[in-house]
Amino acid sequence: MAKGFFHVPKAVNEPVKSYAPGTPEREEVLKQYETYYTTKFDIPMYIGGEEIRTDNTQRIVVPHDHQHDQGVFHLGEESHVQKAIDTALEARKEWAKLEWEQRAAIFLKAAELIAGPYRQKMNAATMIGQSKNIFQAEIDSACEIVDFLRFNVEFMTEIYNEQPESDSFAWNRTEYRPLEGFVYAITPFNFTAIAGNLPTSAALMGNVVVWKPSKHQMLSAYVLMEVFKEAGVPDGVINMVMGDAEMVTNVVLDSPDFSGIHYTGSTTVFQGLWAKIGKNIQKYKTYPRIVGETGGKDFIVAHPSANPKQVSTAMSRGAFEFQGQKCSAASRCYIPKSLWADVKEQVIADVKSFKMGVTNDMSNFINAVIHERSFDNLAKYIDQAKKDDNAEIIVGGNYDKSKGWFVEPTIIVTTDPKYPTMETELFGPVLTVFVYEDEAWEETLKLIDETSIYGLTGAIFSGCRYAAAQATDRLENAAGNFYINDKPTGAVVGKQPFGGARGSGTNDKAGSKANLMQWISMRTIKETFVPAEDYRYPFLGE
Ligand code: NAD
Repeated sequence: MAKGFFHVPKAVNEPVKSYAPGTPEREEVLKQYETYYTTKFDIPMYIGGEEIRTDNTQRIVVPHDHQHDQGVFHLGEESHVQKAIDTALEARKEWAKLEWEQRAAIFLKAAELIAGPYRQKMNAATMIGQSKNIFQAEIDSACEIVDFLRFNVEFMTEIYNEQPESDSFAWNRTEYRPLEGFVYAITPFNFTAIAGNLPTSAALMGNVVVWKPSKHQMLSAYVLMEVFKEAGVPDGVINMVMGDAEMVTNVVLDSPDFSGIHYTGSTTVFQGLWAKIGKNIQKYKTYPRIVGETGGKDFIVAHPSANPKQVSTAMSRGAFEFQGQKCSAASRCYIPKSLWADVKEQVIADVKSFKMGVTNDMSNFINAVIHERSFDNLAKYIDQAKKDDNAEIIVGGNYDKSKGWFVEPTIIVTTDPKYPTMETELFGPVLTVFVYEDEAWEETLKLIDETSIYGLTGAIFSGCRYAAAQATDRLENAAGNFYINDKPTGAVVGKQPFGGARGSGTNDKAGSKANLMQWISMRTIKETFVPAEDYRYPFLGE
């Protein structure tokens, strides 16, 4: 039992390494890339202490070299999912009782393993399996997951420290219990850090987890499981299952012990999950927590007072890094006519200077999109823009899937502010620009607010404080993460808690106390030192 009020190490953001030519980290990551690239993986499910392999496997596909043989991962059936649930519930008996400082130690160790000995394994797996260049991998699969782990431990202690007032005759205490049951984590392909955070944030608070990773992120999911094991996460606390997403989900949501879902992915899938949970509500022992961070249609708006070079740089980075496959990626831009000639010239020059290709050639800024379905979808929108009278492609517009799923960064300019690519999340390197009349500034803010169902990120560039203030006010509900004179991507844990509302999710802010609060259920304990022995109150006196 705990015999002390312990302090945890002060959380600090993991510094981003540069990988510039000649640095040791560049050499290390390229060596690890080569080692992994020449390995044929055979990734099992992890249920309890067991690695489970089945007759049913699926290829691990490398997006920038889709015919490369990288090995397989194993798919389970209903019985495996049920086994994961049962194993998790068995593990809960000890895990939920374990003192918080023991849990903290495990996840702080996981952070140090990733910052140190596992760093280049995490990065290389992400570069190969998700086609991220080294910088995109480093900020995700090294720094961001380390930050999540460190800051969540600190936030956990802050939560536990929040205690009610007491009197001399009665002591009030609040206990932060884990949820009664198990938590289901479903993670997307695009961030290794999210794959790491969704199961661990719930586990840190004392919960047991069934985790279903994306089949397009299996390499880094595998390395994460290796880290969890080495860090000392006990068997059964985080169980990784793969298989048909609907099948896995149906088994999980059928369990009376399902107590919460921690989801990140597309909006339609989340809405389907919510509906299923609603339909099953009478089955559950407790009302499940529903946390989902979903799609976005993120904007950049420039005021006529903005600096065109800053706007074009935000467009180049905000829309095209990691091929536009960030939920926060800028995908619609509103530029005033008076600035457009400058912004256009600079952004075209930037985009033309991007090199595209495999991720172990460090001169490539752009790599492949995640899978053929995404490639085909992007190609369809690009082809349509080529045909439409109200759209013009000013740079990019080509694609080639012969070796990898390569789509050129593409900018469409439209005369219709409700053009489909201004409204629909494409999740790829396609940015659409609407040029507005300078005097239509206020109408443009209204347009931005009303154009899509989402509310994730947005940025305003302005040299005028009044305009910045006005946009901050008018766009209050258009973005959960709002940027002034910065691109709308690149939120840092502990600095800019991340998430959006409207169609973008429940806005529980990953990497914040608010998120961790979802994985606990408070219990209030009042203890009276000298209990009353007479029911009569003074007012009843003669
Ligand atoms: P996706 O919706 O295709 O898949 C996400 C997860 O849901 C995967 O694990 C997938 O297997 C699972 N899934 C798919 N169908 C399912 C079903 N019927 N039942 C249960 N699970 C199912 O998304 P993706 O392509 O992996 O990721 C991209 C999406 O995620 C984008 O929409 C992006 O905006 C969003 N995203 C949002 C945030 C955020 O913080 N708001 C962060 C990252 C990604």
